[in-house]
This record gives sequence, structure tokens and C-alpha cells, in this order.
Amino acid sequence: MTRSSAADLDPDDLGFEHVPETDQSFENALAKARDGTRLTVDDAVELLTTGSDAPGIDRRRKEAVLEAADRRRAEVVGDEVTFVANLNNNVTTACNTGCLFCNFKDTAHQFETDHGGGHAGFTKTPAESREAVAGAVERGVYEVTSVSGLHPAFALNDEHHEILRGYDDAASAVNYKPPERYVTDPGTYVDQLDAMSVDGVHLHSMTPEEAYHARRGTDWNYEEVYSELADAGLDSAPGTAAEILVDEVRDVICPGKIDSQGWIDAMEGAMAAGLDTTATIMYGHVDNEMHRAIHLQRVRDLQDRTGGITEFVPLSFVHERTPLYEHGVVSGGASDAEDELLIAVSRLFLDNVENIQTSWVKYGDEKALKTLSCGANDFMGTILSEEITKRAGARTASSEASTTTWTSSPRSVGSRSNARRTTAIAGESTRTRGRRSGRRSVRRPTGRRCCPSASAPDARGRTRPPTTEPAHWPTACPRSHADQPAHAAGPAGARAERSRSSRPSLSRVRSDRTQRRDANRG
Ligand code: SF4
Repeated sequence: MTRSSAADLDPDDLGFEHVPETDQSFENALAKARDGTRLTVDDAVELLTTGSDAPGIDRRRKEAVLEAADRRRAEVVGDEVTFVANLNNNVTTACNTGCLFCNFKDTAHQFETDHGGGHAGFTKTPAESREAVAGAVERGVYEVTSVSGLHPAFALNDEHHEILRGYDDAASAVNYKPPERYVTDPGTYVDQLDAMSVDGVHLHSMTPEEAYHARRGTDWNYEEVYSELADAGLDSAPGTAAEILVDEVRDVICPGKIDSQGWIDAMEGAMAAGLDTTATIMYGHVDNEMHRAIHLQRVRDLQDRTGGITEFVPLSFVHERTPLYEHGVVSGGASDAEDELLIAVSRLFLDNVENIQTSWVKYGDEKALKTLSCGANDFMGTILSEEITKRAGARTASSEASTTTWTSSPRSVGSRSNARRTTAIAGESTRTRGRRSGRRSVRRPTGRRCCPSASAPDARGRTRPPTTEPAHWPTACPRSHADQPAHAAGPAGARAERSRSSRPSLSRVRSDRTQRRDANRG
């Protein structure tokens, strides 16, 4: 299926094969969730729908699912809420991929030197990225998340430029135009990562989609590409661009992206290169609960094979300024109940992923704080600057709070204590270990109010989030590639044992090309 416009879609007939119907009962699924039995896709559908035979969400059943997830969270990770002091440094908004849920991109031809009109986008040079990171590091940031549009002039490195320039009609064959065609040269991916490597800051970047862009037109595999990026300073890779890992949904919302198997292949390549990863789900658009459940199973299967996913990050679709909404394909995003259930079922289903993140950028502060009682344990990060969700129309905020504010105020994470983390939180990656100072934690103020605006514990001993917005967060923001991670040691120990010297790299694997590349550099 090839669709390029939301206007082509009939919202009443998307033709999905997968529908949220099962032979399981809600009661059986809930019993399995409570006793820790590994859940099936049908179980997950029952929990997400609170019983597919009932219209809408059953509030009593929903509360039962949330309570089971909250208990599981306490058993798995305890009461600490983690977060990261990070900067989002998006390098460019130039992108021709045309995802229908995205308002971050600006079509790339607007960035060309011979384009007459203006545009609202941006491209940062490596020097500008370095300046942004250096400023954030001075303020106490210790992690940089960088996700960008797929700029046609982006290449992995000089050798990649050389290969792409060799194509006839490279623009249509491999989505490439040389940097000299553009007002601003973004440099190579290697240049950008090298520039952002300031004072040992943890670099969390290069989604599977970006990794595909960094190997387009070549026969390089993902492990080689990620190894090259790791050598340039990359510490971990965000598993964004996952959207929904069911191709009938991807064919509708992002037909220009790699398919589900491509995303999985890239993730496996990143982990084979010794990098920790996260995994995401972007839900609440045209997808249904069966799609969400299948997605969870694919992530769990991947984690069974690799052990390298440190955190799962649910991202609720922010619709206001997206083509899907503007063309009437969707009328909104997920409901509050759907958001809470997605967090909860992620916690219950992903029995091999330690950390579940809640995104204050997507949910807003109040709902994000509430989801800390629905199975989530990680409160994302300081972000400082977030463009992706903001440009999709959300009113949640970029935080300009200092990291001191986050670390010193229990109010910032509601009822539980907060703890600094890096993207690799428990069993740190080979690259991260030794570069991190120790994590700091604040003990949970059990059984008492954490701040004047937080409520006292309820009948189950749970405290509720503050009823007012935390004063230090402005209120506004929309779609995000922005996620952060944490880590599960487990099978990742095997990866952590893998030394950098044992990883394949483009320079070693492709000795034929090495000579040409070195000659170019020389
Ligand atoms: S989601 Fe990413 S790849 Fe898709 S159009 Fe937006 S910037 Fe481009």
C-alpha cells in the first residue's frame, strides 16, 4: 500500500485486518496479570479494553488494572521515580518522509539555496549543536537527546557522501542532495555526534529511522552503522519511530518509513554494537487495542532476544496540527482512560523491561504525575527545549527549570521520591560506565504529603499528584521523539561484556572503502 496524503484516506474504511476481539475474558486476563503469569496478546486486549464486549471503558475494571500495574511497579522497581537532566537538541526539521502524524518536519526543498520563500524550520551546524550542548552542560545537564528530520544532505560520514553522490538521480533514488544545495550544511551524523560530545555528556540519539537514513544506498548493516556512530560518541539509541509495529497501521500513518521488521533489525543492530536502547509506542490515532497489544508483544520478543531495552516509552498521539487531524482521519487522540490503561498494560505485559516512562510532554504535568500510580516509574527528563511535540500542537511545556529544581523538589515527581538517572540506569552500558558520576536519589516521603498541593494517601495508601501545575513548569507542548531510558541488566550483561575493540566497524569491515575514505580525509 502506498499513500502519501491524509486526504486520500477514508476514516471509515481503513481496512484493518486486526481488530480488538478475543476469546479471552477480562476476568481471566486480570487474574493472570495479578499473579504475574506472562500475558498473551488476547490478555492485553482484554485489559486495554476492560472487556471487549462492553462499550467504552468500564471504570471499575480500569481501576483494577491500574492497581495491579501499580503493585507490579512497586515489586519491580520500588518507589523511586527516576528522571534525567537532559537537553533535546533536534538538529534539523528538514524531512521529506511525510508521516501523517507529524508536524515537526518542513519539506526539505524549502531549505535549498535557490528556494525563494521563507520557512519556519531550522538546521543547526555541528558548531551550533556543540554550542547548545555546552550551554546545557554548564547548567547541569548530563544527557543529550537528539532526534531530527531526515535531511537529504545528511550522510553517515564522508564515505557515505561519496557513495550517495555516485547515484544517478540521487534525490529520487536514495533521497540525497549534496550539502552545497542547502543554505545550511548539517554536516554528517558523525560530525554532529562528535560535536555534541561535550565533557562526557551521555549522547542518546539515532533512531532506527535515522540509522536507516545513515545507511541508505549502501550495503552496510545496522551493526556497522551503529558501531561507527558509537565511535563518534553515541552512547545509546532511542527506539522511537516505532509508532505502531503493525504494518497495516504504518501503511496508513507513515508509509514512507521503514516497516516493522526494519525497525526491529535496526534495534538489533544497535544492541549488537553494544548500545543500550529504549522502545516506544505512539498510539491513539488510527490504531486499535489489538494493534497496541501486538506492538507490546513485538517489543517483548525483541527484549527476550537481546535484553538491551532499558525502558519502554508510551507516547500518546498529539493531534491538533497533524495531517491526520486536519483531514478528518482522526477526531482526536487517546482518552485519559486509554492513556492510563496503556501505561498499566505496558507495565504488566512487558515483564522483561524494568522501566516504564511517563511523558509530561505528551500527557501534561497533571496526568503524567497520575500515571506514576498506574505502573510508570520514570518521569522523562528536563528536556529544556522540545520542538517535536510543540509543533504538533500540544500545550504541555518545555521545562526551563534548572536541574537543581528537579533534583531538590519532591513536588516535581508527585508523591514518590525522585532519583537522577542516565539513559542506562541499572546495568550501565560499556560506553556509559566510567563516564557517569553516581546517581543521586531522594527517599520517598512515605505516607505523608510531599508538598502542599499533593493530597494525603488514599484508601490504598497511594498519594495523588498535586492538583495544581508545578510552578516551575510552563504549560505547553505536542509530539515527541523525546524519550529517555533506563536499564535492565539481565541479558544486557552479555552485551556489556562486549568490548569496543570487538565490535565491527565500517572501517574494519569495509577495508576496500577505508582506503578511499582515509584518502579523502587526508
Ligand atoms: S516523524 Fe520524523 S521521519 Fe516522519 S515526517 Fe516527521 S520528522 Fe520526518
